[in-house]
Amino acid sequence: MINISHVLTPQVIEWHVDSVRKRFHSILKNSPELKELSRMEARFYRDICVAKATCRELIGCSAEQLSTFFTSALFEKHKLYFVLCLSQELRKPYETQPFFQHFVTNLPRDFYQNGIAQNVEDISQMVRRRAATFFGYGYFSKVIGKKFDKEQWNGYSFSKKLEVKVCPTCNSADSSTVYEEQAEIEGKVSVVCRAPLDHYYSKSKYPFFAMTAANLIPSCERCNSSLKRETDYMYKPHLRPYKEGLEDYATFICEPKAAIQDVIKAACNPKYVKAHNYRFDVLCKQLNQKGVARLANERSKNSLSDMGILQRYNENVEQHQAFLVKLFFTTEHFVEQQLGFFHGFTKKEVIENYLEVDFSGVDVTYKPYALLKKHVSQSILDKNNVQY
Ligand SMILES: [Zn+2]
Repeated sequence: MINISHVLTPQVIEWHVDSVRKRFHSILKNSPELKELSRMEARFYRDICVAKATCRELIGCSAEQLSTFFTSALFEKHKLYFVLCLSQELRKPYETQPFFQHFVTNLPRDFYQNGIAQNVEDISQMVRRRAATFFGYGYFSKVIGKKFDKEQWNGYSFSKKLEVKVCPTCNSADSSTVYEEQAEIEGKVSVVCRAPLDHYYSKSKYPFFAMTAANLIPSCERCNSSLKRETDYMYKPHLRPYKEGLEDYATFICEPKAAIQDVIKAACNPKYVKAHNYRFDVLCKQLNQKGVARLANERSKNSLSDMGILQRYNENVEQHQAFLVKLFFTTEHFVEQQLGFFHGFTKKEVIENYLEVDFSGVDVTYKPYALLKKHVSQSILDKNNVQY
């Protein structure tokens, strides 16, 4: 939901690609499972280990390149390998294509067992299993050794480098990475916790994307596990935090359910059930219903509904009580009065400080509900005719 493309810097990508390459070399050399590869697999693994540019195409590609991977030159070059990595259901559309038909009718010798040709499903399962070993997310996800070294490449240092402190999918839950730099806990790893890294394209369905930087999205437990479940974003696309944000296509609004004066009165009186006085909603921007814009609308809607964003926000409406009351009070007259107290401040700065919002949107990666507050502030201030 939040655009975090700025955190995946060229330096982070370079560091990740170099580290993944080293790991690939080591696993290819040392894993017993990868000793007996078919020629087709060996060709792919050699290519990705030897040529850094090839490794970068898969591991360090941009979110945009990731979304069009199945039309890329790398896919074209090794498409039999990639297609065999897919499960039966996802492989189906490719099975009628000439390259696949050719493979089945001229099955290479290394896919025979005791003189008998293996069936495609068995071959695919074997290739997929070996791909899971080669791309090896398990190694990356934990700390190797007893003490955390922030220079050591793993999921912890990857998350730490991104410094995304609030889940970009819901913009409400904590996703910070915490470790004790000076910890001297005997025999224990000094890491406290890290952001779960959500695979935009799941690693079980697309094992070759398991280590792609643009596919690893710092997240919160709920968004990563409870809500996403098995949804395949290849077929039900969601917003891609490394490329776009909800803000590009839609805006949050707050709909008071009663007259503002009554809402304020109720808000100041603890006897009232406050939660029922406002409701957050989303207003889609006027996008035409063609091509790119239509797809963007679809991604926004899927992200909002599958992650239960509005339900979660409205369930927690009480925690925005103080902010909303302050916002309803922010009239042109009130701001003019405040300007008298804060010399040297602009009108916009006075409003930002008073409401604790940031209209530039810089704070969305470290302040919960920053996007909601920014949008709701803008819409209510507009309604109140406050110029800033
Ligand atoms: Zn979340």
